[in-house]
Amino acid sequence: MNTMASWENIRITLIGLAVNARKRAYAPYSKFQVGCAVLAEDPKSTWLRYFTGVNIENASYGLTICAERVAIFNAIEAGYTKIHSLACCAPSMPGVVGTSCGACRQVMSEFNSKMDIVYVDDAGQVYMETIANALLPKAFTLGV
Ligand SMILES: [Zn+2]
Repeated sequence: MNTMASWENIRITLIGLAVNARKRAYAPYSKFQVGCAVLAEDPKSTWLRYFTGVNIENASYGLTICAERVAIFNAIEAGYTKIHSLACCAPSMPGVVGTSCGACRQVMSEFNSKMDIVYVDDAGQVYMETIANALLPKAFTLGV
């Protein structure tokens, strides 16, 4: 981001979108509803746009997908392939640290290892801020 002020405004928007998205999570099995929002750029037009995602569970648990990957994949499908920043909203529960799983960390690294990431609880309170390559140093890459 160019200025602290712009990051602060984006951060507030991302957090609001993630908190609201969480309500649309499909989590009938775990009841662990997660919402995510990303700010992404279309490299052809340089336009920026927000996308959201939620966790989507399945009766055959292995098909479940996390909110972070749904949000990122929504952006990629629309042609917004540079993910600038991401907010993730997970419920606050005793003993739960709602950070991203390894698969999501790898996907984040694919689309911008320096993306800003903020984690908030279900009340929108920030509990962690980081960047993708801090979550997954030495991510797998094929050098494209
Ligand atoms: Zn995940």
